[in-house]
Amino acid sequence: MRNIQTLKIFCISLLIFTVSCSKKTTQSLNGSFSYLSKDIVFLSSDEMEGREIGTEGERKAGEYIAGRFKEIGLKPAGDQNSYFMTFSRKKSGNPHGDEQSSGGVEVTGRNILGIIDNNATSTVVIGGHYDHLGYGQEGSLYVGSPAIHNGADDNSSGVAGVLYLAESIKKSGLKKYNYLFICFSGEEKGLWGSNYFVNNTSLDKKSFNYMVNMDMIGRLNKERKLAISGVGTSPVFESVLNDIKKPSFSLKKDSSGLGPSDHATFYNSGIPVLAFFTGQHGDYHKPSDDAHLINYEGVQDIVQYIYTVVSALDKKEKLTFTKTRDESQTRMSFNVTLGIMPDYLYDGTGVKIDGVKDGKPAQLAGMQKGDIVTKLGDMEVKDMQSYMKCLTVFKSGQTVTARIIRDGKELDKQVTF
Ligand SMILES: [Zn+2]
Repeated sequence: MRNIQTLKIFCISLLIFTVSCSKKTTQSLNGSFSYLSKDIVFLSSDEMEGREIGTEGERKAGEYIAGRFKEIGLKPAGDQNSYFMTFSRKKSGNPHGDEQSSGGVEVTGRNILGIIDNNATSTVVIGGHYDHLGYGQEGSLYVGSPAIHNGADDNSSGVAGVLYLAESIKKSGLKKYNYLFICFSGEEKGLWGSNYFVNNTSLDKKSFNYMVNMDMIGRLNKERKLAISGVGTSPVFESVLNDIKKPSFSLKKDSSGLGPSDHATFYNSGIPVLAFFTGQHGDYHKPSDDAHLINYEGVQDIVQYIYTVVSALDKKEKLTFTKTRDESQTRMSFNVTLGIMPDYLYDGTGVKIDGVKDGKPAQLAGMQKGDIVTKLGDMEVKDMQSYMKCLTVFKSGQTVTARIIRDGKELDKQVTF
């Protein structure tokens, strides 16, 4: 998943509500659990050196994924009958810049593609990025000497999900559509791999039925909160999701097809999307995002759930795309940053802090993980929307009083932006 600046945009969409369930399922799936954990452990090992695009670690991870695709029996769907789609981009000077700028260093990466070709006229795309931050020179929230960012949750978990679904669908009787599996590179730099794919694939984009994205599905918590974005991008999604009772989750559904990950690229091409995410945590974009912190059974439950969604959609005709009401708001520009990671699964009043960035205003003001911000200056912070509004109003250098709730008590902190 991309960094904090883009994450802020993730929560704009308002159509969020929660369905609570509790019972655990015992139904089994065609995929293999031992592989699921092996894939995550291997991809997030130090040997992969954080899988930054253009590095040896990214190359090794790509070879591993291609090997798994072959083992599962997927047909190569990359360049020249291989599993690889190679692309080059020039790094821009601006870490948030998505545009190719002149004069930067050229980086070459590879998307990994495999297909189950059922000779259908329409294709379902199932993806997740496999690149990460390498030694953390760019996009890291860690302050310290360079260290390997293993990215177990971000996004070895999603890749394992892609592989598990590939295996499950391969063994299943799902035949109505073709199933294209893609592990993207360059996501962390600005969705490079998915953009390259969408703009350069020889397949007809109009033939894509919908896209499933898994980015950070490894930290299912005790409350079993699972965020699903893109629910508003096709009229059938809502009812299909509501009909699935097991495995059960506390779902946070978001209508928006935008967000800081590869599904946004497909949504912007007019393709319905569903993106799955288990939420932020203190190890996000830090070297401590490690394999031992993954909830493996949680990952399995999530991919089983996605498999059930895909099976249900296999019975439906090709989906209709609907635009969600988020476009204009994404152009909101922030004057200042607080330097927090919001808890995107928090649904009370205010913005709950899931982590603070070292050396940024929130940390310097003494805010910490678990605090709930309810007011900044004269402005009430009711939710992400009003929080982001504040960031467009305050000026750099300005000091305001921030009201926070810590352990049920209100506290005031002086924040200098
Ligand atoms: Zn990320």
